[in-house]
Amino acid sequence: MTRQFGAFTASELYCPKCKRAQPVREKLLLVLPSGELHEFLCTGCSTSLAKRTVSGPATKVVASTSPRTGAGRGRLLN
Ligand SMILES: [Zn+2]
Repeated sequence: MTRQFGAFTASELYCPKCKRAQPVREKLLLVLPSGELHEFLCTGCSTSLAKRTVSGPATKVVASTSPRTGAGRGRLLN
């Protein structure tokens, strides 16, 4: 349902504990001024497999009612 073009989302990662690629679930770890720190946990054993920092506030599009910001900014390159 949610279609994120070009957004990298890890759905499976190798878990050294399970010794196989496991589905992961993403968990918001920290909210930093520069972005959000997410952690990927193994769904099998809850081992932290990866972390990533999502910079910018536009990670989750929560039906924003103000599409004016950012529109047409930095998009047109000659
Ligand atoms: Zn595991």
